[in-house]
Amino acid sequence: MPEELVLRNTLSRSLEPFEALEPGHVRMYTCGPTVYNYVHIGNLRTFLFEDVLRRTLRLFGYRVTQVMNLTDVDDKTIRGAREAGLGLREYTDRFIEAFFEDMDTLRAERAEHYPRATDYIPQMVRLIQRLTEKGHTYRAEGSIYFRISTFPGYGKLSGIRPGSTLAGARIDADEYEKDDARDFVLWKAPKPGEPSWDTDLGPGRPGWHVECSAMSMDLLGETFDIHTGAIDNIFPHHENEIAQSEGATGKPFVRYWLHAEHLIVEGQKMAKSAGNFFTLRDLLERGHDPVTIRYLLISVPYRQKLNFTFDGLHAAGQALERIANTLRRLDNTPPAGGAGDLELETVEGFRKELRNALGDDLNTARALGALHTLLRSVNTALDGGGISEPIRHRLDEALAEADSVLGILPPDAGASQADEEITRLIEERAAARKARDFARADAIRDQLAARGIVLEDTAHGTVWHRRGRS
Ligand code: AMP
Ligand code: ZN
Repeated sequence: MPEELVLRNTLSRSLEPFEALEPGHVRMYTCGPTVYNYVHIGNLRTFLFEDVLRRTLRLFGYRVTQVMNLTDVDDKTIRGAREAGLGLREYTDRFIEAFFEDMDTLRAERAEHYPRATDYIPQMVRLIQRLTEKGHTYRAEGSIYFRISTFPGYGKLSGIRPGSTLAGARIDADEYEKDDARDFVLWKAPKPGEPSWDTDLGPGRPGWHVECSAMSMDLLGETFDIHTGAIDNIFPHHENEIAQSEGATGKPFVRYWLHAEHLIVEGQKMAKSAGNFFTLRDLLERGHDPVTIRYLLISVPYRQKLNFTFDGLHAAGQALERIANTLRRLDNTPPAGGAGDLELETVEGFRKELRNALGDDLNTARALGALHTLLRSVNTALDGGGISEPIRHRLDEALAEADSVLGILPPDAGASQADEEITRLIEERAAARKARDFARADAIRDQLAARGIVLEDTAHGTVWHRRGRS
């Protein structure tokens, strides 16, 4: 296949043709939710970008092993559990369950692994020990820090270089600002009211950054293909992951770093801390359809900001309605007897354009545009000489292929609505025959035949099939 997959690598700041380290198999790590609350649609935009990525990799013929971690111990989960008066596990369990529900509602495929940070404490301890053996750490007040001056590559992902005046200064918080490039915490000394693990490092709990390094390398190996997140993850989180992983192994950690732009509301990043957020649940309660939300969230290519508005949601709903109408119409129209008016080149051209669009750094807007163009041709053909049986078959395949990545088409919605109507007409025909109204019964049979529905009266009642389909 000539089409190639090109992805924008944050590390090189350029578009690069994608090649997996192990032929045919992609190993990727996606930073998952911090499970201290319901995820908001900004988080979900990033998770759906990752869903489109894994589906695109499969379209390009790869097997995918995706790991998405669940951050169930960090500053935020600990604070949340304390405020709720619950144990950390009990508190985070609820939000993990809700997270899976939300992802299913949005038709996101499941990753292969969902490690919980609290299940990987021994791996984190081992990683910190390796860093210590190599002279990258120091202890202060019961905590262990990564000394960033020992890792010359520090800043290569984000472009942020630690200021010389800050040398030796350190930071304990899991999240901090760009102008605060300091020695960061790997292992935090126990504090009253915080969970703590007794380990060879002494009592305490992991910092956030070391969690992702330990889980990703444990499940995917010391060098793997793709690591993703949204742009706020670049610094400090991913910069610190590189320092910890490469500092310990001496090998390149990740080959392609991909970062999604933010979903914004009125020019501001949607964030729980800013209080300007909608959860998926908020939108469903207002009566919005999950597939419409998925459509909107994937419709803007991941490297552009997505400005969330209710007008945008409405427009997404209308676009989906147009798609559903055409598919319904297609399902209700029997194949053309002759060559029909939809050309094979139109269908094959669409398949090529789909790959080109997604191969162009996941240009979902272009892929959706191609789908709408195809469906306009379908409508035109249905207005004219129809669509022949073999082309119809190719069309069905092309639509299924597009939906294997986009995940927005009604799963046989057209067909099932049509099926309901067919059943209703068959019942009406049976009633007409019982009443000896054979003219009406025959009229119904003819009406269905015109739509390609063939009836067969058997000892067990009337069964039906679509002409030309088994
Ligand atoms: P968190 O639960 O805060 O760790 O975030 C989970 C993922 O959502 C991370 O990859 C974040 O970078 C991402 N994220 C957070 N806020 C937004 C936003 N407004 N738009 C897109 N992605 C976001
Ligand atoms: Zn992470």
